[in-house]
Amino acid sequence: MNAPLDPGQRAELRAELERRREQIARPGGPMSAPERTVVVHEVLSQDADEPSQREDERAIGQALGGIERAELAEIDAALARIDADGYGLCIDCDNPIPYARLKAEPAALRCVACEARHEQALRRLA
Ligand SMILES: [Zn+2]
Repeated sequence: MNAPLDPGQRAELRAELERRREQIARPGGPMSAPERTVVVHEVLSQDADEPSQREDERAIGQALGGIERAELAEIDAALARIDADGYGLCIDCDNPIPYARLKAEPAALRCVACEARHEQALRRLA
């Protein structure tokens, strides 16, 4: 069993969550709109000259915006859990999530084992 977070680790992870939140919430997000269009264009350039490419670029640009919004929601949920004292505990099995995992993914809600099970369940649904 892993040790629960100590107050220093918790403060560090809160700062990291707030840093990421600020990055995403900033106007234009982590990528400005023009940068995003360039990335989308590069992603699609393997299939260049498709007449529908403009449409695809718009759709992918919107999808990226959706991913940012989802990430923001996860970060907000994690910050709320820090305030409510539930942070760092797996929402499925209630065991502490290893600090190393939270360092890499401060918004993680599950331990590695439960996350793997969760993703497997999602794949079965897809
Ligand atoms: Zn778990």
